[in-house]
Amino acid sequence: MELLKEKIKQEGIAVNEHILKVDSFINHQIEPGLMQEIGKNIADHFRDRGITKIAAIESSGIAPALMTSVALDVPLIILKKQPSKILNQDLYQTVVTSFTKETNYELTLSKKYISAEDHVLIVDDFLANGEAATAALRLLRMSHATIAGLAVLIEKSFQPGHDKLVSQGVEVYALAQITEMAENFILFKE
Ligand code: 5GP
Repeated sequence: MELLKEKIKQEGIAVNEHILKVDSFINHQIEPGLMQEIGKNIADHFRDRGITKIAAIESSGIAPALMTSVALDVPLIILKKQPSKILNQDLYQTVVTSFTKETNYELTLSKKYISAEDHVLIVDDFLANGEAATAALRLLRMSHATIAGLAVLIEKSFQPGHDKLVSQGVEVYALAQITEMAENFILFKE
């Protein structure tokens, strides 16, 4: 998606060869017009696939996932991050290893909002090592829902997430793919 790539070129900050900061338009401040176009783009790609719900990983996935859910007119469910490991009969729960914070956290979803009849599209901001997306898949599959795919705004293609997801049979749709990064340097896939 050219609009997103241009924005990353203008305002994205490559901190080092691994971390890209997009705080001014995705992660801290959100640019609504861009986010709306992102939602339409993802919705157009996955339209007519029988999607019944969009799933977002709290919290940076919520904005693009909401825009996608508006464009497809289906509900958005939020996979919630919780520090507690107390077992709860009403929730599906799984553990995730965080890329940015280098800690573990629990991802949870109430059993009320998902069923085996659901066909779910997962939306997130970044795909890096694929840990968050793999945990989202695990969680959704506990309910026997089926997965339409994973849409991410930015895939860092030099990290293993893409291959990890594809090898599990998941379609990955990335709006911008970065093949190489260094301090103040970002190279996009053509
Ligand atoms: P993964 O589980 O694929 O390694 O990482 C996914 C999560 O880590 C994303 O949801 C995102 O919040 C965060 N993340 C991974 N790489 C980056 C990055 O380069 N910049 C930012 N801002 N977040 C990232």
